[in-house]
Amino acid sequence: MVTLDKSKDLFDKAKMLLPGGVSSPVRAIKPYPFYTESAKGSHITDVDGNEYIDYCLAYGPKILGHANPVIRQAIIDQLDKGWLYGTPTQLEVTLAEKIASLYPSIDMLRFISTGTEATMSALRAARGFTGKNKFIKIEGGFHGAHDAVLVKAGSGATTHGEPDSLGIPADFTKNTLQVAYNDIEAMTEVIEANQDDMAAVIMEPVLGNIGPILPEGDYLKEVRKVTEENDVVLIFDEVITGFRLAMGGAQEYFGVTPDMTTLGKIIGGGLPIGVFGGKREIIDMISPSGSVYQAGTFSGSPASVAAGIAALDVLEKEKVHEKLEATGNMMRSNLTDIIADKGLDYNVSGIGSMFKVFFGDMPLNYQDALKCDKEGYLQFFHNMLDSGVFVPPSQFETNFLSTAHTEDDIEKTLDAYAANLK
Ligand code: PMP
Repeated sequence: MVTLDKSKDLFDKAKMLLPGGVSSPVRAIKPYPFYTESAKGSHITDVDGNEYIDYCLAYGPKILGHANPVIRQAIIDQLDKGWLYGTPTQLEVTLAEKIASLYPSIDMLRFISTGTEATMSALRAARGFTGKNKFIKIEGGFHGAHDAVLVKAGSGATTHGEPDSLGIPADFTKNTLQVAYNDIEAMTEVIEANQDDMAAVIMEPVLGNIGPILPEGDYLKEVRKVTEENDVVLIFDEVITGFRLAMGGAQEYFGVTPDMTTLGKIIGGGLPIGVFGGKREIIDMISPSGSVYQAGTFSGSPASVAAGIAALDVLEKEKVHEKLEATGNMMRSNLTDIIADKGLDYNVSGIGSMFKVFFGDMPLNYQDALKCDKEGYLQFFHNMLDSGVFVPPSQFETNFLSTAHTEDDIEKTLDAYAANLK
């Protein structure tokens, strides 16, 4: 059993100062979270000195592990030159050029500071471009914490039983229409029934905030077809999948090109960032070129952009995606064997470096995922911590692999799964 005395003391203080004792809901592990002291490579160490193999990886950005030396150096070099100017930089041009070369859906883009801003601004751009108001979001999809998308939202919103937030006037979400993932008939019906006012479909191409749940068959191609036929802007929210499934994200992996893309997490090398981009005629409508207003003090923050450039360099030079896919496949097949050996009716989902054991049937959508044993998963989570492995503290969050995970890490992790899956 790990002891968390210092974490508990911090939590008792934090609860009086920070809602739930945390700065973001997913971190509020019950009865209290561990407070982190440091992290390096695949390992994270708490204030009580416990060390865990990390599969949470800050919820996605740390694909190269913690404190990657190349990214670290890029940040230090930038700090020496100052870290915020309020002027354009060469760094932005370099990273924009790189992103545009990797994502055929992106002719132009804007840097912002978070994934939340990315989807908020992308939806505004799509609405400005089409002159229409409604959009479709997938049930259980999570696109950050702004008003229009906090309806049946996944991630922490579902974990804490609040997929619809208080404080959002009904008027702000009346144009947010929901359909189930992997149900092309439902999407087609809703688009056709609302054609006069349908601006966009926004979706995570792989539903990462409730699983991962994968697209079945040609689902993404069919989504592309029906949106194209009806002049609806298709936005792939690749805040998780961008640079994780491939350099060109899920759109490269599945060969489907949306009209707009949102990015975040990995592209900042672990510092705050967001990106929204798309077809020139859409993004050219953003201020000051056009009349869709968008702005930010920290947008294109030099340290974040420098870290992002360094991260992409390493990802590309070291051809990490092939290696991560191989490790992911190995992890998934070993977990499947463990479950079969134990005669459990659990299922292993995943793709590339994303994986998860579902405590129930393999889900195809949000409603399926909700049927899994989330309480059982939480008990399992604590048992894994005791075994020195930090998996995300919810059935509804994806486990991530990084290039920093060693064979020894994987072996220990599989042993921990074998000991704790019941
Ligand atoms: N979109 C997706 C797909 C995400 O997973 C997240 C965050 N988990 C966001 C948007 C919001 O990003 P941020 O937390 O940087 O605001």
